Amino acid sequence: MTSQTPETFYKSIFENMTDGLAYCQMIFDAQKNPVDWIYIKVNKNFEKLTGLKNAKGKKVSKLIPGISASNPELFKIYGQVSLTGKPERFETYVAPLSRWFLVSVFSPQKNFFVALFQNITDRKQIEKNLEDARIAAVNVLDDLFVEKSKVETAKAKEEAILMSIGDGLITTDEKGNTIFINKAAEKLLGIKNEEISGKSFFESTTIENEEGVAVPLEKRPIHMALATGTTTTTTTTTTTGPTYYYVRKDKTKFPAAITVTPVILSGKVIGAIGVFHDITKEREIDHAKSEFVSLASHQLRTPLTAIGWYVEMLQSGDAGVLNDKQNKYLSEIYTGNKRMVELVNALLNVSRIELGTFVVEPEPTDVVLLARSVVDEQKSQIEAKKLKLSEKYAKDLPLFNADPKLLRMVFQNLLSNAVKYTPKGGAIEFALWMVKGGESVDVQKADEDSIAVKVTDAGYGIPKKQQNQIFTKFFRADNVRKKDTEGTGLGLYIVKAIVDHSGSKIWFESVENKGAIFYVTLPLSGMKKKEGAKALI
Ligand code: ADP
Repeated sequence: MTSQTPETFYKSIFENMTDGLAYCQMIFDAQKNPVDWIYIKVNKNFEKLTGLKNAKGKKVSKLIPGISASNPELFKIYGQVSLTGKPERFETYVAPLSRWFLVSVFSPQKNFFVALFQNITDRKQIEKNLEDARIAAVNVLDDLFVEKSKVETAKAKEEAILMSIGDGLITTDEKGNTIFINKAAEKLLGIKNEEISGKSFFESTTIENEEGVAVPLEKRPIHMALATGTTTTTTTTTTTGPTYYYVRKDKTKFPAAITVTPVILSGKVIGAIGVFHDITKEREIDHAKSEFVSLASHQLRTPLTAIGWYVEMLQSGDAGVLNDKQNKYLSEIYTGNKRMVELVNALLNVSRIELGTFVVEPEPTDVVLLARSVVDEQKSQIEAKKLKLSEKYAKDLPLFNADPKLLRMVFQNLLSNAVKYTPKGGAIEFALWMVKGGESVDVQKADEDSIAVKVTDAGYGIPKKQQNQIFTKFFRADNVRKKDTEGTGLGLYIVKAIVDHSGSKIWFESVENKGAIFYVTLPLSGMKKKEGAKALI
């Protein structure tokens, strides 16, 4: 190593240091304001760090045009340091150079200063990126917070709504464990939300049917909705299906209309929401209405029957010979009266069903004989329409313990529908045969040994979209309304009620314009006797 003089030593430091270095003279105006500086000496890295070439001997105003506007603080700080000798350290962005610098400045002698600096643009960029990321994160958190409070507000609102609705409301998870019941449900069920939440709703409450028998788990509406993933509704009248009774803790009960909707998320049932209300009042009103219909129909029967008799007497010439016109008018009256009697009878039957007053008086009945007599009754209509009727009755069908009046109504309605809803010249079939328990009748299996009834026609059929309404009161499908204007829509409703009450089954298959097949299975164990204490007839 060669020895060096201090001057060359410092010079070598000056030239080789990684910082930029500028030795400058400050220029002041007459008022002693710093207005410019001259680069007296700069080191090698000055050019690299600033991008400025040949700075030596130049004024900064020439070297970096616009600097006095972009960085007035540099003039102020350098001016002060040159005058006071007090060193400074600061960071600054020099816009004309698009660079950030960390500057240390000191003054070796008055009016001069030395600026040592580093280019910190990269660091600043990273800091800026970090800051941007921080701001973005804060924004996301802010948004989340806003969303969270929105969700909380919505939840609070929903809870308030659910809490205050007049109907009882139950929410459960997918297993039927209670999540929440509202105030109305608490009141109706006589149980507190705190007592029931978290517990199985099925174990905490009991539902009974009309006979006071507990409804099994698989028939409970919430269970059905959870199991099937479809909305389940119980009925509000005795006739549209079984009425369910909620049993309170104190063992009192009330009839309830219940609707349960499954909660489905991504195709999976995750819970259920049940809404119910006490239908005691509705049922009372329903009952009063049925009583009125029953009374009115009953009262109408006597005068209508009398009209029939008198018309028959007039027609037979009891009151003198009638002319053609009179006979024509009388026959119109007779037909109209007959229709009215049929309607009144149907209404009376409906009200009996609804009031539970219809009597079932089973007696050993020969179903084939009964079927034949029903066919006989309708012979004239069958012939008028030129229908081809085939009767297929199995031989040796056993006597069957049934109420012949009710069974007659079933046969009459099914056959008269086949006759009414088949165009002229069409074919119908009436069949009776035996099935053993477990054997199939069409798509259904007979639960026990039964007599199967099948009434087939090749008529107008029932439109697919209305098939689920066919057994409802007053329902008539669109396709037949115009073709047959006389129907009441009560026949199948009555048939279904009779079938249901006697442990039988009824169902049908139909394709519009192809025809319909109605099936009934009558268990050989027979219909159960039922006294109609309040029955009017
Ligand atoms: P009604 O025959 O008096 O209208 P029902 O209760 O017997 O009343 O039948 C209800 C409805 O069911 C009928 O209006 C008709 O739309 C449909 N229906 C019943 N039986 C048949 C059938 N065999 N073919 C076509 N439609 C039928």
